[in-house]
Amino acid sequence: MNKAKKCSICQTDVIGLYCYNCGQKITGRRLRFKEVLAELTEGIFSIEKSLIATFYHLLIKPKQVIENYWEGNRNYYYSPVKMLTLALFVIGIHVVFVNKDILGVSVNMNGVSKEMSVIFSPQVFFITLMLPLISVVTYITYFKQKHNVLEHITSVTYLFAFWAVVITIFWDLLEFVLGDPDSLGAFVLFTLCLFIWTARIFTRSVKWYRIVINTLAEFFIFCLLIASLVGILYFFDPSALDVSAS
Ligand SMILES: [Zn+2]
Repeated sequence: MNKAKKCSICQTDVIGLYCYNCGQKITGRRLRFKEVLAELTEGIFSIEKSLIATFYHLLIKPKQVIENYWEGNRNYYYSPVKMLTLALFVIGIHVVFVNKDILGVSVNMNGVSKEMSVIFSPQVFFITLMLPLISVVTYITYFKQKHNVLEHITSVTYLFAFWAVVITIFWDLLEFVLGDPDSLGAFVLFTLCLFIWTARIFTRSVKWYRIVINTLAEFFIFCLLIASLVGILYFFDPSALDVSAS
């Protein structure tokens, strides 16, 4: 006689530890102090485990992490949205405690109205501009690979957030040790890492020189896009480009 428990969420008969319908864990144990303590340590530990696995694997085998996400596997690694939230958090701390440059770029919010600036903090503004731009770069560069737009956006989000966190922390440490390194270097390093890692995702061949060629192609298309955006902006409103070094 197999005693099936009922899931308290979806009323499915459950055998084993997890409801196969909604995923709830059914321990069958009443609440005790010991359980709460165990849960607390487990909670802290599992966040750390997931965070470390995501970062470590994005560093050494980014393709596996991202393809795993494309294939619909969840909850082992951080999701792209969770990574982005983490990046906003880290950049937010940097803006409050270190300086206002975001990845070496001083984001000019003059063109943004007061009402809008409630929603658009400089870091949100920066990410809102950069994410679509980089996604267009990878979409054009790897057009032949026939990945869909969502695959480009999610992989760029993953790697963008990853490098935003790493470079922000790294550059702040560098600044702490060396005094005041050229902050534009942070942006160059960030885009370089981002392009190399997206090349690692989208390059079919594993040959290193293929990855180098694709990194350069991405960089070229990135510059081309920036130049055309600046050109368009200038065409409609020449005064908008009055970014004279303040
Ligand atoms: Zn259930």
